[in-house]
Amino acid sequence: MVEIEVVTQGFGVGTNEGMISYCGITLIRGEKNTLVDIGYPARRQILLQRLEERGLKATDIDRIVLTHAHWDHSLNLLMFPNAEVVISQDEYDYIQHPHAMDQATPLYLPDILNRCKSVTTVRDGAELEPGVKVMLVPGHSPGSLAVLAETADGVCGMVGDALPSRKAAMADPPSAGLIFYDEEAAEVSARKIIDSCAIVYPGHDRAFAVESGRFKYIHPQSVIITNVPRDEDGTTLHYSVDETSGPFQITVFPSGKAKQR
Ligand SMILES: [Zn+2]
Repeated sequence: MVEIEVVTQGFGVGTNEGMISYCGITLIRGEKNTLVDIGYPARRQILLQRLEERGLKATDIDRIVLTHAHWDHSLNLLMFPNAEVVISQDEYDYIQHPHAMDQATPLYLPDILNRCKSVTTVRDGAELEPGVKVMLVPGHSPGSLAVLAETADGVCGMVGDALPSRKAAMADPPSAGLIFYDEEAAEVSARKIIDSCAIVYPGHDRAFAVESGRFKYIHPQSVIITNVPRDEDGTTLHYSVDETSGPFQITVFPSGKAKQR
């Protein structure tokens, strides 16, 4: 059995000047050190720091699985010179000629992949190592995949944006939210994830357990917001919590220093 560790939590913060959004990055410790998704350059420093806290360097990562090719999940690929990159065959084929309106799939991703140590394309059900396999969950993107890992806590699914949040799991029907490819397929995929996993590691939220139709976060909220824009007097903050977006809490520290509540 393998062990799963959240290296960086996925989350999104809305603003009227655009969304701040990071995908979750998950480490599978098994026969190999595998990262599922690796984020984009704005998170490079924190990613290296979190790996170091686990006694790992970028060169110790043997394998990277991309749940899909969107820029916010994929652009740190070249940080990991020793990693074999795993991507679904469908996603690999798609990124060679992405749709003209698809703003999430970088046209230059094939070039980045060409510079990686090796690239392995997989199909539904492919086993990466004992207890770790992939399940195709298309819809959000043409070849989205989920990594299913057998752990002491049951089957853990690292699912990317096929089910990006707990809120998406709670929706009726469950939804991939922002869908770039196929709405119907996305709904089927979201249901498949809920049916297959004891614990879901979503693309942009904390991990949650699936317990007879209910979804329960298994880790506390770890995001602390510092350094918010403010007026000259240093005190006036402009923020609001969107009550419709669930129990996300914003904690603002006017000093700019993170403190525990
Ligand atoms: Zn995406």
